[in-house]
Amino acid sequence: MPLYSFHCPACGQDFDRFLRLSQLADGAACPACSAPVSHPAAGGAAPAQAPAPAQEPSSGSGSCLIPQRG
Ligand SMILES: [Zn+2]
Repeated sequence: MPLYSFHCPACGQDFDRFLRLSQLADGAACPACSAPVSHPAAGGAAPAQAPAPAQEPSSGSGSCLIPQRG
């Protein structure tokens, strides 16, 4: 039975629990505030991550100038 690390988003408590993989989806109760804590690996919501900013190419490509004839 593997050991899973949990992080309670309610009070910030970190704790470890031995859980079967089938129990992982149920999560665990925080020992500090008894709040239900789901594990990121349980296939639920992804852990909070800041979205990576879109990087624009800045290497001199992408000119939009159209030569005017006249
Ligand atoms: Zn807690």
